[in-house]
Amino acid sequence: MSTPKWKIKGIVDDFDECGCCGRRGLKRSVALMPLDADGNEDGTVEDVAYYGTSCAAAALGWTQGKVADTARAAQAERDQRDAYARRMISIYAPVETAPVGVKARVYYGRNRHLRDTGMKATEEVAKLLAEARTTLADTTTGPARPSQIEDFHRYIVILTRDERICLVRQVLEDDIERQEQARVAQRRAEEIRGSVFAVAALDAEAAREVAYADALTREWNAKAWQAAHV
Ligand SMILES: [Zn+2]
Repeated sequence: MSTPKWKIKGIVDDFDECGCCGRRGLKRSVALMPLDADGNEDGTVEDVAYYGTSCAAAALGWTQGKVADTARAAQAERDQRDAYARRMISIYAPVETAPVGVKARVYYGRNRHLRDTGMKATEEVAKLLAEARTTLADTTTGPARPSQIEDFHRYIVILTRDERICLVRQVLEDDIERQEQARVAQRRAEEIRGSVFAVAALDAEAAREVAYADALTREWNAKAWQAAHV
């Protein structure tokens, strides 16, 4: 069997023209990265081709069904990587400029097994953030995604008595609605004898991660939000 010349990277909704035959009006297209003779990716985002499903199937020698399944799986993987990147940025970007001791406590608090391994928290945090930013800046299957502290939203979180998340909601923009939202959340927390507080994050899933983090992480998260919104 010959090595395929392309690797499917995902699905794109905003290209309606096939890069192979020029057919227009496609609902979606498949992002294809060229591969070299050894099957390694041979290019950057600039070299990615966007084909309709039938042309992608012809280029790969696959059925259209296999192309569609593979593209969906690749896209789901990208979405998961994005979600992980948003969690890492929401946790670590607020401590990026914090003193080394703070960074170390936040990092080892989440990675206890790495304590005393000689792994340097400062370097690891820098690496995690750089990877996360690269992930969200990748435009292979769509525009770059927000990745800055300035892009954080505020979320209201209700924790149960045994510290499990019972609700995460984005804080409303409107002043009056926001006050009502806070009142409702406070009442709900009292009913279940839980607690309510706010965290800042790139999305709701990342907000959960921040809510479950230690007090120091949440303290710096709040500081970062305030600094970005004065
Ligand atoms: Zn085509």
